[in-house]
Amino acid sequence: MLEEGLSEDELFRHLSSVKEKDRSYKKVLSSMCTIPHPVAVRAHNIFIESNLGDPGLFLGTASLEAELIERLGSLMSFPGACGYATSGGTESNIQALRIARESAEKRNPNVVIPESAHFSFEKACEILSVEMRQVPSTEGFVMDPERIEDYIDSDTIGIVGVAGTTEYGTIDPIAHLSDIALDRELFLHVDAAFGGLVLPFIPGSPSFDFRLEGVSSISIDPHKMGMSTIPCGCILVRDPDYFTSTEVDTPYLTVKKECTLCGTRPGGPVAGALAVLDHLGKKGMKSIVSRCMENTSFLIRGMEELGYPVAVQPLVNVASFSCDKTPEGWIVSRTRHGHMRTVCMPHITRETLEEFLRDVGEI
Ligand code: PLP
Repeated sequence: MLEEGLSEDELFRHLSSVKEKDRSYKKVLSSMCTIPHPVAVRAHNIFIESNLGDPGLFLGTASLEAELIERLGSLMSFPGACGYATSGGTESNIQALRIARESAEKRNPNVVIPESAHFSFEKACEILSVEMRQVPSTEGFVMDPERIEDYIDSDTIGIVGVAGTTEYGTIDPIAHLSDIALDRELFLHVDAAFGGLVLPFIPGSPSFDFRLEGVSSISIDPHKMGMSTIPCGCILVRDPDYFTSTEVDTPYLTVKKECTLCGTRPGGPVAGALAVLDHLGKKGMKSIVSRCMENTSFLIRGMEELGYPVAVQPLVNVASFSCDKTPEGWIVSRTRHGHMRTVCMPHITRETLEEFLRDVGEI
């Protein structure tokens, strides 16, 4: 640490020069985060010092969190859902498996997840000492419905499906998983960290939420397609008792118990997330999602014309291609199978895609 502090001028000159090393989102086609909506930034700044880890001190912010959970619960077809704001999909997925493990009380617990699940499940299983069993995908990059039951046994604490996979933008057979969960009395977690704020705004999308009776919990992230400031994920559960299994006593806080994983939790992104949903409403969200989906289709057509077919038709705005080159100056990513992976987030415009396709054509 410096012996004497810097002047504000020196400090901010330094910070500005460091910020220049960050990439702007313009040519980033790999990220599931985006530039936050201006109302999110404004709302975030109002609640900059709020700590939801001690909600009795921040009753106003805590009421915004309750409203956010109510909005998302309604969107997931269950306005009475319980939940709270997490740091993102990773934390929500860890908490869901924690609840499943505590509820099932198995000696050698295992969880059955799709091969295409996000790597956060690997972290969750390691932390929780739960065996991770991965069901292979079909050629369409979804959990093979014929194989799921082969992986379940008497030590299975739960099953997982993904609505909007990170790598291919597909949806696992969640209605089928729901039937299995009901039949075998298993906890079913749906990872809709990405798809949860996309699919409800696309008419005719498959059911994946609490409308399916077997669904026990859902991850849904405002800091992805919800355009909130970072960090803001949410975990929603059907049964409020689930949270008693993760509760600890908090004798020196304004509340006596806490069911969350993190202690100190930022109120700013929660205000930001709610601000976006309330400012845009369903109509505004539909219009942003439909622009992202039109851009995805435009990119797929353009790539196909250049001889690079899409690996599978996605149901959300993630598209991966058989193309092993990357044009200079662009950021795309690679799936585990080597496909070029792209995400048409709200910051990606039609002009950006035209430029990208021109550059791909010139490789
Ligand atoms: N689940 C899915 C489906 C995701 O796509 C991601 C991230 O891309 C996560 C979970 C993890 O989210 P986070 O990075 O916010 O922890």
